[in-house]
Amino acid sequence: MREAKGYAVLSKSKPLEPFNFSRRAIGARDVGFEILFSGICHSDIHQAREEWGPSIFPMVPGHEIVGRVTQVGAEVTKFKDGDLIGVGVFVDSCGNCDNCNRGMEHFCREGMTGTYNSLERDGKTIAFGGYSNYFVINERYAVSIPSNLDLAGVAPLLCAGITLYSPIRHWNVSEKSRVGIIGLGGLGHMGVKFAAALGAEVTVFSHSQGKMDDALKFGAKKFVNTDQEEWHKPLRKKFDLILNTVSAEIDLDPYLQCLDTDGTLVIIGLPGKPYAVHAGSLLDGRRSIAGSMIGGMPELQEMMNFCGENQITSQVELIGANYINEAYERTIKSDVKYRFVIDASTF
Ligand code: NAP
Ligand code: ZN
Repeated sequence: MREAKGYAVLSKSKPLEPFNFSRRAIGARDVGFEILFSGICHSDIHQAREEWGPSIFPMVPGHEIVGRVTQVGAEVTKFKDGDLIGVGVFVDSCGNCDNCNRGMEHFCREGMTGTYNSLERDGKTIAFGGYSNYFVINERYAVSIPSNLDLAGVAPLLCAGITLYSPIRHWNVSEKSRVGIIGLGGLGHMGVKFAAALGAEVTVFSHSQGKMDDALKFGAKKFVNTDQEEWHKPLRKKFDLILNTVSAEIDLDPYLQCLDTDGTLVIIGLPGKPYAVHAGSLLDGRRSIAGSMIGGMPELQEMMNFCGENQITSQVELIGANYINEAYERTIKSDVKYRFVIDASTF
C-alpha cells in the first residue's frame, strides 16, 4: 500500500475537498506513477452530482491522467522507470472475452472497471481516479505518451481525445467528408482538430458566439450559432456525419435534417435524459442515429501516436487543486477554453 493525496466528493451535494487515501502495492504487472496532470471531464461533474443515477462515494474523480513512471512490477514489459504514461476512462476489464481480446475492453462482456465511481474486480474496493498525486495501474490499461507533446495538453486526450477520435475513424472521416461537431467544449474541440487533420470540411454548431474565432483556429471552415432562429434551414442535407458532444439535452431534429442521404448523427454527450426524435427526420434520406463511447486500448495508443505525429493536443486552462469547484461551475456554464487541467503537484 502507498499513501496518496487528492480531492474527493464525499456526497452528492458537497463540493470537492482534500482527501487522503491509499493505493494498492505494486503487483507483478502493475506500474506505479507520479501523476503530473489530470483533466476535468464533464462526466466527472455528472457523476459527482449523481446525474446518471446513484454514485459511489467517496469519489476521487478524474479519468484523463498523465504521469511519470516511478515503479514497475517484476513482469512489466511496456514501461520502465521515468517513462511518460497515460490512463483513461477504465482501469480494468475481464481481459478474456471476445471484445477484450479484440482490443475493445470498453465493451467488455463483464463490464469495464471505471477509473472512478466503480468497484475494482474484487467487487468491494472503490476505484479512485486521477484528481490525486499517485496512481497504480496494470500495464495493459495504460498507454505510452509521445515525448514531443505538451503534457498538460495531453491529459485530455485520454478521454476527450479518444472519444472523438474513435467515431471519426469508425465513420471513415476523410478529405471527402462534411463533418459537423455540436458543442465546442472539451470533447468538441478535439473533434474539430482530428476531423480537420484528416482533411474533412468541419462545421462547428455552438450556442456560444464568442467561440467562433477559436473554432476556425482549431480547423473548422464554418461556425453556426444555434441560438439563431431557423439556423438549420440553409444547411438541410449538407452533412455526412454530425457528432453531438453536448452535455445537456438538445433538440436533435434540426441536426438530423442537416444530414445528407445515409448520414449519421453520433450521440456522444450523455445528459442523462432521453431524447425525442421525429420519425420523419430519420426516414427522409435513410438517416441513422448512433452512439459512441471512448475507445479500446489499441485505439487509445493509436490516437496518442497520431497526436504525436500531427502535433495535436488539447487547449487547456491549467489550474491548482483549490480551483476545482470553481472549474466545475464554469464548465457547466460552457465557460472553459477548452479543458480544465489540474496541476497534480498542487494536491
Ligand atoms: P463540456 O466541456 O462542458 O462541453 C460541452 C459543450 O456542450 C459546451 O461547451 C457547449 O458548447 C455545449 N453545451 C453545454 N450546455 C448546452 C446547452 N444547454 N445547450 C446547447 N449547448 C450546450 O463537456 P465535455 O467534457 O466535452 O463532455 C460533453 C458530454 O460528453 C458530457 O455529457 C460528457 O459526460 C459526455 N462524455 C461522453 C463520453 C463518451 O464516451 N461518449 C466520454 C466523455 C464525455 P458551446 O458553448 O459550443 O455551445
Ligand atoms: Zn471523460
